Amino acid sequence: MADVVVVGSYVQDHIWRLDRFPQPGETRRAAAFHTGPGGKGFNQAVACLRQGVASAFIGALGDDALGAVAQRFAADEQLPCRWQIHAERSTATSGIFVDRDGAPMNVVQLDANEALTPDFVHAQEDLFAGAKLLLLQLENDIAATRAALQAATRHGLLRLMNPAPVRAEFDADLLALCDLITPNETEFAQLLAQIAGVHVEAGSLASCDDAQLHALARRLGALTVVLTLGARGCFVSHADGERRGDTAVCYRLAPERVEAIDATGAGDAFSGALAAAIVRGQGRPFRAAVQHANRVAALSTERAGTAPVMPRYEDVERRFGAPG
Ligand code: AMP
Repeated sequence: MADVVVVGSYVQDHIWRLDRFPQPGETRRAAAFHTGPGGKGFNQAVACLRQGVASAFIGALGDDALGAVAQRFAADEQLPCRWQIHAERSTATSGIFVDRDGAPMNVVQLDANEALTPDFVHAQEDLFAGAKLLLLQLENDIAATRAALQAATRHGLLRLMNPAPVRAEFDADLLALCDLITPNETEFAQLLAQIAGVHVEAGSLASCDDAQLHALARRLGALTVVLTLGARGCFVSHADGERRGDTAVCYRLAPERVEAIDATGAGDAFSGALAAAIVRGQGRPFRAAVQHANRVAALSTERAGTAPVMPRYEDVERRFGAPG
């Protein structure tokens, strides 16, 4: 039985590394190309599994060659998956350019992921019944996302949402079904506008101090917000800090020092590893779980790609020592 259930997207990534992004109308030569399994949900499931926590994935594929690639990879990885196969849809694809600074530029065609149905999610009730934590994102049909949150609520699971990408149909009642969210700066600014009617520039968040970020996070309701800050680490805001045994209601973790070459999937590494660390470390301070996620995400930037290069628990131990 899986401790963590991930309901999310599968996307076949196509990644080109190049010195700089092309201008409209310009053709540039790429230095390298590779393709492999990805999608926010699938990346997070692999990241979680590789941290040594029993995980299962619920997602959707087309009845096509790329769908077969997904199933083969999951079997090799020993990740149990429940796939809804759509004959009339294609397995999703993305095109990702990564420039010299390691910054990714993405285009995604979500296709089969948008046809994941609430009925299919409900039919996986046995997975929810045996799990401790639900991890999900926003790359599926929103009704399926809602079904997953409802099933997790019925079974008393901790509900961790990586609200990526924020979409127009996402509203306050869905957020109220989450215990914990992991937005990046852009998603945090979008959520604040959409849920709380508070307008901030994503770029301006970098210059906010902890008290200002905490006040903003609290506008989203009584849930824990873990804001990822890319190469600047992350920030945690608890509504109930004392009860969790943390020393502060809000705090910041500095980034780990790494040789970053590609930040694609770093946010997925973070959310998947956070889910794993929460389940593994139940009863320990939440800060230790966030520190582990910060380490896994940093390590993930040292290799190009997404799901296939997610760090393993042993990699993190070797590099940073045993989790604190
Ligand atoms: P992002 O999704 O870009 O906010 O990044 C997610 C997480 O990845 C951050 O919170 C960091 O833990 C980690 N990360 C991303 N880029 C770097 C980097 N250059 N150095 C160290 N850690 C990073």
